[in-house]
Amino acid sequence: FLEIKDLKKFYGEKENRICVLKGVNLSIEEGSIVVILGPSGSGKSTILNIIGGLEVPDNGTILINGKKIDNMKASNLGKYRRDMIGFIFQSYNLIPNLTVKENIELCQKLGDKAIDIDEVIDLLGLTEHKNKFPRYLSGGQQQRTAIARAIVKNPKLLLCDEPTGALDYETSKETLRLLEVVRKKYGTTILMVTHNEAIGKMADKILKISGGEIAKEIVVENPLSVDEIEW
Ligand code: ATP
Ligand code: MG
Repeated sequence: FLEIKDLKKFYGEKENRICVLKGVNLSIEEGSIVVILGPSGSGKSTILNIIGGLEVPDNGTILINGKKIDNMKASNLGKYRRDMIGFIFQSYNLIPNLTVKENIELCQKLGDKAIDIDEVIDLLGLTEHKNKFPRYLSGGQQQRTAIARAIVKNPKLLLCDEPTGALDYETSKETLRLLEVVRKKYGTTILMVTHNEAIGKMADKILKISGGEIAKEIVVENPLSVDEIEW
């Protein structure tokens, strides 16, 4: 479904130039959960940002369903990514002067195959919060809104950057359970980045990244559900 070959990324100029990704190869099956594990600064967010179209790679190819997406014309690429990809940021990035429902609606309009907005609000347990502004929500409620916003256009691929990074233990589990529900209900492929090893247990595949390279790839024989994981 998603295939990445020899992905390289540099930051900086001349003598300050650093190589952040040194030739990353990975493949992800449709409908699977893949977790990228690695320490701070190892390049996890960079990979996600490149797949999500927020950053441009210096080398490599990205194929979705066999279609090369790194050399498309900018306008096509924008549309393709809007249709295909949902992004959950660590910092939620909700629009402060729009309510929960309006935040979700804004993204719903981007998709051709969008899901009914009330279905998504209900699925994420946001019914009683839908008319609130983000500043009146808890961290977990903001994250649920961010998930709703990312999935409402029914993307094939959901990219999650440290989805539990800012949440406590119970709220983290609740968030991960919701991602499981989303995958089951809509068949969404989930690519998640985290430094929490335990989250890897719910994945079909774990990619350990270190120093800008995939150091280890582990295919998980029996992925656990969130509630089976010992945290
Ligand atoms: P964390 O777990 O802390 O979020 P990460 O694995 O997501 O870390 P990245 O954000 O991908 O790491 O960063 C990888 C490296 O690239 C770091 O050394 C970082 O300082 C550097 N880097 C990231 N973005 C930029 C940028 N825009 N300009 C220069 N250097 C950058
Ligand atoms: Mg990061």
